[in-house]
Amino acid sequence: MFSQKTIQKIRSQFPILEKKVYSYPLVYIDNAATTQKPIQVIQSSESYYSTINANIHRGLHFLSQKATYNVENVRKKIQNFIQAKSSSEIIFTKGTTESINLVASSIEIKKGDEIIISYLEHHSNIVPWQIICDKKEANLKIIPINNDGFLQLDYFEFLISERTKIVSISHISNVLGIINPVKKIISKSHEYGALVLIDGAQVPSNLELNVQDLDVDFYAFSAHKMYGPTGIGVLYGKKEILENIEPYQSGGEMIKNVSFEKTTYSNLPFKFEAGTPNIEGIIVWGTAIDFVEKIGVKNIQFYKEELLKYAIQRLSCIDGIKLYGGNDYRKRSGIISFNLSKLHCFDVGSILDRLGIAVRTGHLCAQPLMNFFHVEGMVRVSFSVYNTFKEIDYLFNSLLKVKKILL
Ligand SMILES: *Cc1c(COP(=O)(O)O)cnc(C)c1O
Repeated sequence: MFSQKTIQKIRSQFPILEKKVYSYPLVYIDNAATTQKPIQVIQSSESYYSTINANIHRGLHFLSQKATYNVENVRKKIQNFIQAKSSSEIIFTKGTTESINLVASSIEIKKGDEIIISYLEHHSNIVPWQIICDKKEANLKIIPINNDGFLQLDYFEFLISERTKIVSISHISNVLGIINPVKKIISKSHEYGALVLIDGAQVPSNLELNVQDLDVDFYAFSAHKMYGPTGIGVLYGKKEILENIEPYQSGGEMIKNVSFEKTTYSNLPFKFEAGTPNIEGIIVWGTAIDFVEKIGVKNIQFYKEELLKYAIQRLSCIDGIKLYGGNDYRKRSGIISFNLSKLHCFDVGSILDRLGIAVRTGHLCAQPLMNFFHVEGMVRVSFSVYNTFKEIDYLFNSLLKVKKILL
């Protein structure tokens, strides 16, 4: 647990948290959508453009070498952060969505193959698979969930077979915060020779990650949900698998030799990095990782667990509230979604907004999950390292106010 002083010190590094909205202090609890950025990260962006800016890898001049060195340094930093075997297994993408699209379009999928996802998935881990299934005449299978939203693993064991080409599952649900038993799913899938992709958008900085221990084939995540910039993310892939799948996009950087007769591709990771990457994003992300490592992922995880526990306790006392995802905070990350009586989530969200509270409302990029719960949408609260117990109290009181106004 962090002391009051530690939290204040962390908060003081986030300039936006000092802002007021509609004359109320900002309570930012929409962190599952994107986190705020600490001052070091903000400054790192300026510093990149004023001291480094150049294109990478092919330049022999000083700045190009400096930019290349910094980019490759961040690649190694990410390798260490997720405990990958080699930095060539770290491919820079636009983010989780692009990473999933990369895998969906690059692995070989044939007519009659099966792809398994779950009811819990974010649209970005549903739609790419639907498209590929349509194109290749493959079949999409869905792991069902129980009433609290937990995956029905016995049903998964029923779905998986030698026909399964890939299993693609989120590590932490962006709606319910449920931490899925991915290690079990991975080892079961491997028994049948299926590949596994984990959508880890909600994971880095919230759970310690060891891709080798998980034995996962592909792992996707974004910088902006871990205090870094938007428009940059990673696909981790096992080297021997990446070497044997098709490139995703083509152009400069991903080639070794080009002639009109035959083009050969670069080695990993460049084979999958066509064109000029988001150089600034990569370098600034490095600063965000330093920020996270200084506090420690385990510490962030424990603190968020305490926040979630307290929020579940407080919010469940509100008459007419429906909390989704069960009450066991130890099986969840700091996300809590709910509906209040018969009120529409947009109405609840709008009044909270007027009181300075930033929450997410609507289908939360998971319409199948909304259908499962027979709702159009939910209100989602998601915590970060800078949130406080006092903010949860303020949310609690504000929800009582919402009820008073609307009911
Ligand atoms: C945010 C999120 C995504 C999409 O991430 P982008 O950064 O928008 O590409 C995918 N899956 C989950 C679980 C998410 O939370």
